[in-house]
Amino acid sequence: MARFGGIPLQRQRAAELADREPVRVDYPQKELIARLLADTCEICGSKGNVQVHHVRALADLAHAGWQPSDWARVMLHRRRKTVVACDTCHDRIHSERPARPLTQ
Ligand SMILES: [Zn+2]
Repeated sequence: MARFGGIPLQRQRAAELADREPVRVDYPQKELIARLLADTCEICGSKGNVQVHHVRALADLAHAGWQPSDWARVMLHRRRKTVVACDTCHDRIHSERPARPLTQ
């Protein structure tokens, strides 16, 4: 009888095969589309005319010496490099100082 690591390689006619459900893969792109389609500012909750603000790295938002503002806290809490924001909130994000100095 052939063996594999101590297990006899003998056919078991009564064995039942249990196929597992395939693992569902979540594509972050689709999540962003769903968030855009919700058409709701994730910062202030207003409806309509939303845009996506994007950062290169969440670590930039958690930069030492900088107190994260409301939009940065939303991104850090959701662990997302994107935030869907209305016109007003998006303008406010860009009017604040960058998380990392541009000349670093
Ligand atoms: Zn807003």
